[in-house]
Order: sequence, then structure tokens, then C-alpha cells
Amino acid sequence: MESEIARIKEMFVSTQGEGPYVGVRQLFIRFCACNLMCKYCDTDYMYENANFVYSPEELLEYIKKEFDLASIHSISLTGGEPLLHADFLKCFIPLVDAKFYLETNATLSDELYKILDYVDIISADIKLPSATGIGNTFEKHDKFFQIARENKKIYLFAKAVFNEDVTEEEIIATVNLAKKYDFELILQPQMQNETMLPSINFADEVFSKCLKRYNKVRLIPQVHKFLDIR
Ligand code: SF4
Repeated sequence: MESEIARIKEMFVSTQGEGPYVGVRQLFIRFCACNLMCKYCDTDYMYENANFVYSPEELLEYIKKEFDLASIHSISLTGGEPLLHADFLKCFIPLVDAKFYLETNATLSDELYKILDYVDIISADIKLPSATGIGNTFEKHDKFFQIARENKKIYLFAKAVFNEDVTEEEIIATVNLAKKYDFELILQPQMQNETMLPSINFADEVFSKCLKRYNKVRLIPQVHKFLDIR
């Protein structure tokens, strides 16, 4: 991958539908490529399907022309996995007078390190094998959170997508990470279109189990799916 060229799938302004910033207006920049293959993934992040191939300066020019940056809360760097473009982001972010919100699968700690001084908010996923169908990534998450905590100014939180296959071990490991690095944990029921896969009762049980171990936990479904917005 070229270091200072970004491959971007799409850019649009919309309302954040997940986590503690639900409801804020953001410019979403969706980068191509991902290092994982979660079975519930609903994004087209294929590298060869990029609609924009830009240098940092070209991207700055494009977003200034197309969007009103003064009216948004922040710029969401999303994907795919935006940290696969860390070398690009290290050049791009300092050019822009805006807050940056990084949406990441929290597995690429070395890449995070490159842009740690430039992001304001990190929305990290904790990937539960029962939902993703991929192997256990807890060790990678641990290393990621350790690096993220080196910048005390960053607002860090994590989301964990779960369904009725979630195990006791996953719940404990997830809460332990949140406790160890002292961040807010958002439980996010897996969705299939506009329907929540776990029942309300099941979701509430998982919520209670987490709250017994740690009090900075919230249960927040993906609001944009209910509102039918992007
Ligand atoms: S980390 Fe995100 S973009 Fe990558 S496969 Fe999983 S859900 Fe899809």
C-alpha cells in the first residue's frame, strides 16, 4: 500500500449512530481495506473498489469544497480499518482544523502509535469470536489499549457487538479489559437489518452480568439502523 496515498470508498455527512456520541453530526471518511474478516461485516471495503485515490492535500481540498466543516462535530475515520492508512493519516490530520474520531477494530497498535498525537476520540471495537467468527483477538486489543492510554487527552471507549452465542469467558475478558484500561464499555446487540438478533431479555442479562463486575457499561443498540440512516 502506498504510504501517503489514501484509497477511500466514500465520504458523506451523517449522524453518528453508535456509542456515547450517538446523535452528533459527522463527516464520515470510509477507507478501503481491512485486516479482519468478521462474518457480520456489512461494509464494502475492498481495496480495488476505491472511489477516490487522494494525497493528503487532495483530500483536504476535496472535503473543504464539498462539506461545511464548521457545522460538524468531528470527522469520523472509518472503514474497513482506517489504521491501515496510518502513514497517510499522519500527514492528513494535521492539515485539518477539526476534531478526529477514529473508528477502529483495535488490533493494530503499531499503526495507532503513528497517529496517537493527532486523534481526539477513539471508538475501539472489542471483537468477540462468538459474533465475528474470527479467532481470539484479546491480546491484540490489550496491546492496543495500552498504547491508546499513552495519550491522556484522547477520549477512549470500546464497543462490543454480541449475540446470543456470547460466552461467559468473553464477557469476563471484555470487562477485564475495560477495567484494566479504565474506559467506558458499550454493549451493542448485533443487528440483522433493523432487527436486533439477541432478544431484549438476553441483552439485558448480558448487561447485568457486565454491570456486576464494572459500572462504566452501557447498552446502546445501533440507532442509525432504527432511523434508517447511513
Ligand atoms: S473489522 Fe470492521 S470492517 Fe473489518 S471485517 Fe470486521 S466489521 Fe468489517
